[in-house]
Amino acid sequence: MVKLILILGDQLSLDVAALRAADKATDVIVMAEVFSEATYVRHHPKKIAFIFAAMRKFAQSLRGAGWQVLYSQLDDTQNGGSVPAELLRRAEETGAGEVIATRPGEWRLIDALEQAPLKVTLLEDDRFLATHGEFEAWAEGRKALRMEYFYRDMRRKTGLLMEGGKPVGDKWNFDHDNRKAAPDQINYSGPLSFEPDDTTRDVMDLVAASFPDHFGALDGFNFATTREEALRAMAHFITHALPRFGDFQDAMLSENKFLYHAVLSPYLNAGLLGPLEICEAAEQAYRDGHAPINAVEGFIRQIIGWREYVRGIYFLEGPNYTGRNALEHKRDLPALYWGSETKMHCMSKAVAQTRDEAYAHHIQRLMITGNFALLAGIDPVQVHEWYLEVYIDAFEWVEAPNTIGMSQFADGGIIASKPYVSSGAYINRMSNYCKSCHYSVKDKTGEAACPFNVLYWDFLMRHKERFSGNPRMGNMYRTWERMDEGHRDTVLSDASALLQRLDAGEVI
Ligand SMILES: Cc1cc2nc3c(=O)[nH]c(=O)nc-3n(C[C@H](O)[C@H](O)[C@H](O)COP(=O)(O)OP(=O)(O)OC[C@H]3O[C@@H](n4cnc5c(N)ncnc54)[C@H](O)[C@@H]3O)c2cc1C
Ligand code: SF4
Repeated sequence: MVKLILILGDQLSLDVAALRAADKATDVIVMAEVFSEATYVRHHPKKIAFIFAAMRKFAQSLRGAGWQVLYSQLDDTQNGGSVPAELLRRAEETGAGEVIATRPGEWRLIDALEQAPLKVTLLEDDRFLATHGEFEAWAEGRKALRMEYFYRDMRRKTGLLMEGGKPVGDKWNFDHDNRKAAPDQINYSGPLSFEPDDTTRDVMDLVAASFPDHFGALDGFNFATTREEALRAMAHFITHALPRFGDFQDAMLSENKFLYHAVLSPYLNAGLLGPLEICEAAEQAYRDGHAPINAVEGFIRQIIGWREYVRGIYFLEGPNYTGRNALEHKRDLPALYWGSETKMHCMSKAVAQTRDEAYAHHIQRLMITGNFALLAGIDPVQVHEWYLEVYIDAFEWVEAPNTIGMSQFADGGIIASKPYVSSGAYINRMSNYCKSCHYSVKDKTGEAACPFNVLYWDFLMRHKERFSGNPRMGNMYRTWERMDEGHRDTVLSDASALLQRLDAGEVI
């Protein structure tokens, strides 16, 4: 009997499990652009355009390889509007009795497929290095699930940067060398960009017409949308940026959106590239003497360490993870996250870049927009939805643990051993934002004081009971205790006034 083989927009890999299980002679592939997936949060137009364009081209390549593909465009009049509705329609059309799918990376969609009135078999998505079973076994019985130990196991498993059972360079982690402040000059012109072809332009017109009120610019779309292009983007990064990736991994510059970052996450997460091939290319660059160990180890750790680890946490913790709010933060997400005016130069830059590119690099996400949300006590569910909407690489299995766990500490410390908070001093050290800011990063109180400076102490005081006993935070509380009492009172009353102004919708 005919089976339907479901391929989702982030499953664009020829070796995805459902395709491997399919029979070209009898089975029919189903791919569908649907409103429900583009709007359950209002995704950035560049993200929708990227996924639809890449889906159309993937479908074309499958047809070229002899598969029968039923592809639904968003504006097809018969389009049922959701993945289950499209599967039902195609089952009726073809008389198929069963659907084979690769397990989606989001509980919401797993649930929708499991509830569909069809026989659906979900196969494990094995495009990752660790299976759910392996991650569960690793987590079993551990008091703390620290990424570093998981990462070492992944190094042993893959053999990446290993020699004779030991890590290359006799150290697992070279992060110590990867915290250089922003350089004066960047000798890299940024990620490879791709002129939209006819298919991409058609998709862009459709997206512009269908989602006119989604936050974000569609103009300047230049992402890769095929595997061949993504491979070129990867080679470009390895050749031109990887050697300096490590040194300036945490740096930020007002005039440079990408520094030496890869901008490969959209391709990796959509399935156009695989994690192992990227890491092997990076390792080869090290073995060839092209890139130093701190860059290559740091880069590989992000992929076989962080990326795999956050996925493990998402599936281990279950569907209620995205609703966690350990610090009981309740403030609404301020309008400045949607591009309203702010006098904070760092926030203004990070949000504007996000609107224009659907991309910000890790430290902008963690230490600018994430840091501010955490310090200001913003509801983590709203923060999570914002990150899921605005970034081209955002799929819940990877976005939620990064936001709820790493950035907002809303999971109570499963991912982060302490909250990622900082005053303006850290931002000033790692960027040149403060030089062009309305506020003074040196001022600790008063109208001109950097908002991060006052909110930092306010956050620590609000959560003193929870954090003052944390060995990694004791020095922060001791610094506070050493301050003059009058100064401490002023800091807290300035913070309270600032938050009131934020709540009243004033420009801060
Ligand atoms: C609040 C917050 C939300 C985030 N949301 C997402 C998201 O939705 N999707 C996403 O892919 N990443 C997310 N990240 C992680 C990280 O910011 C992005 O992976 C990275 O910025 C992608 O850009 P790049 O390819 O230039 O990365 P690079 O800095 O060049 O790193 C190389 C690769 O490592 C991987 N990587 C690096 N850090 C992480 C991480 N913490 N978790 C998982 N993979 C990582 C990515 O695949 C990335 O392509 C988030 C981080 C934070 C703090
Ligand atoms: S002074 Fe404060 S608000 Fe302004 S750019 Fe620096 S850290 Fe950001």
